[in-house]
Amino acid sequence: RLDAVAIGELLIDFTPAGVSEQGLPRYEQNPGGAPANVMAGLTKLGKRTAFIGKVGEDAFGRFLTGELEKHGVDTGGMVFTGEAGTTLAFVSLDASGDRSFSFYRNPGADMLLQESEIDWERIGAAALFHFGSVSMTHEPSASATLRAAAYARREGKLVSFDPNLRPLLWPDLDRAKRLILEGLTYSDVLKLSEEELHFLTGERDLEAGTRQLQEQYGTPLIFVTLGPDGSFYRQGERTGRVPGFAVKAVDTTGAGDAFFSGALFRLMESGKRPEALTEEELGEVCRSGNAAGALTTTRKGAIPALPSREELDQLIRGN
Ligand code: ATP
Repeated sequence: RLDAVAIGELLIDFTPAGVSEQGLPRYEQNPGGAPANVMAGLTKLGKRTAFIGKVGEDAFGRFLTGELEKHGVDTGGMVFTGEAGTTLAFVSLDASGDRSFSFYRNPGADMLLQESEIDWERIGAAALFHFGSVSMTHEPSASATLRAAAYARREGKLVSFDPNLRPLLWPDLDRAKRLILEGLTYSDVLKLSEEELHFLTGERDLEAGTRQLQEQYGTPLIFVTLGPDGSFYRQGERTGRVPGFAVKAVDTTGAGDAFFSGALFRLMESGKRPEALTEEELGEVCRSGNAAGALTTTRKGAIPALPSREELDQLIRGN
């Protein structure tokens, strides 16, 4: 039996790592992919997780699979293809230190996951199903992702969705909105940034934007993450804000994924459906997410920066 399974993209993020002796730029090979990060986060907190996705039959695909296994995520549902290479992203820093991305994904192996390749048994064996929208930018992985979410919903799984909108990856943003909103129809727990809430609803106001989504899609629990300010939640008519933890942030990569793994962990530990959580429990769920997000910003990288159960408990107890 599994606690959680995710479907999504895996890619390499090549991040700037100084210059060589000859003055040439160096890059560090980092594993990337938000849904996989969430599974790694849950594993670190003690849950049994699996990941379903497609990579190239190349050194990068083997590296990514190996990284997930190293962190305890089951990869038996992964698919390898010779039809495309593993997706690569290069991060460059401009003069003011702002990050920009160049993607090598035309197509990337992650986009080629087909419905017929989905490991339905692993989804059936898990209590929670998690997905994002990067795997929905192109066919056939868009249909595969949505069919898997629909199946998980029909089977009574807890379904969590982090759209994690990456506008550069979509050929068309109207389609992005349409498919993300379709994803919402299968979701029990939704996590958004303030930008994503605005993209989906046209609202900047947290109360109004989340009310619109809740009324239209009936989503039982919605989180909006607020960076250092913590998080906002809506459960039906009930809303609240939970302040973040003050930490010395060095790298915010993966903070959103850490937040979701911390929040989903606490939700799963409660043994309740999201609609049944009390106000106090909702506060605990958000605090757990905030603590996981905060701890992740104190270390470099995404997966290596995810906190252990002890670290999480310690930060929460300390406050
Ligand atoms: P990502 O860049 O990973 O996509 P995101 O925009 O989804 O991130 P953020 O709101 O930046 O998510 O961060 C997620 C959570 O992590 C926040 O809700 C907060 O609890 C915590 N967090 C992020 N940055 C900080 C910080 N500087 N200090 C303390 N906590 C933070």
